Amino acid sequence: MVKRRKTLTIKVGGVKIGSRFPVSIQSMTKTKTHDAEKTIAQIRRLEKAGCEIVRIAVKDSKDAEAIKKIKRRINIPLVADIHFDWRLALLSIKNGADKIRVNPGNISNPNHLKEIIKSARKRKIPIRIGINSGSLPRAISERHPRRTTKLVAFARKYINFFEKNRFRDIIISLKSSDIPETVNAYRKLAALCNYPFHLGITAAGTPDNGIVKSSIGIGSLLLDGIGDTIRVSLTGDPAEEIIAAKRILRALQLRNFGSDIISCPMCGRCQVDLAKIVGDLEHKLIAYGLQFTAKRPTTIALMGCEVNGPGEAGDADIGIAFGKNSGVLFKKGKIIKNIKPKDAVKELIKNL
Ligand code: SF4
Repeated sequence: MVKRRKTLTIKVGGVKIGSRFPVSIQSMTKTKTHDAEKTIAQIRRLEKAGCEIVRIAVKDSKDAEAIKKIKRRINIPLVADIHFDWRLALLSIKNGADKIRVNPGNISNPNHLKEIIKSARKRKIPIRIGINSGSLPRAISERHPRRTTKLVAFARKYINFFEKNRFRDIIISLKSSDIPETVNAYRKLAALCNYPFHLGITAAGTPDNGIVKSSIGIGSLLLDGIGDTIRVSLTGDPAEEIIAAKRILRALQLRNFGSDIISCPMCGRCQVDLAKIVGDLEHKLIAYGLQFTAKRPTTIALMGCEVNGPGEAGDADIGIAFGKNSGVLFKKGKIIKNIKPKDAVKELIKNL
């Protein structure tokens, strides 16, 4: 069981972020925000997939104006992602954003930041200080030649600034596309403050590559008890980010996301098309919403042979071990009945 690092609780709309609450799942839309209809449709799809907080890019006043319309038709908290233009933060707050993400690498003027703080305080909404290794100012880079130290020093500078301005409603992120650097930076900062952390590996790549990188980076920190909300960044469909995030949290036993499939790697003893059966089951569980919504965690085992099958998967709640044109359905290692391989997925879902 992972012991979470103790943090303050920060409220983003109806979602509480911090060590006393489950690690929440975020994603970001990939539509043009000012196209409110497309953005709303994408957010609704993300809600359905299990997204708990959504972020939108606000790059001009048209995007900031769309927030009013979008907010009326979605059910999860909305975060406005602001770079370069501090006035867009004020406009987004005015239009109903539940949280603002600012990058002090490109909005650093103290007077502008003070205006954002003033406005967020008035509306009682939090701010994420989103540090990104790619946008560190040269002064910091030259003073701290090691990148991890640079990231932490930069974060501390802005945490101090927010604290001096009596604003503690903050969440911190320290993203980089370099995994050891990101992990070390978060670990160092975790010892220095008690604000909740948003975790992510930036520019992680396509799902194939990005899920591996995110699982290692985000997963290492979560195992240390560090991290209160996560976003898996992928070049692709944002719903895949949610599924990957759920799988990471379930693998670490941090959230109960229903069914998990374990399946053997197949070897010369396997006499069925196990990869196809597992793929079909996974597809059906996601399609029926069973994979992530079941009330209690269920482990489903699919094993390629009867020799090692029920024994190796004895801890699974339910499973099938296959033979040649045959299979046995078992629960907690006890054989229940014989089945045909073609009925495997149907039988498992019926018996869940
Ligand atoms: S369960 Fe059977 S088929 Fe699968 S890897 Fe083990 S021995 Fe091979």
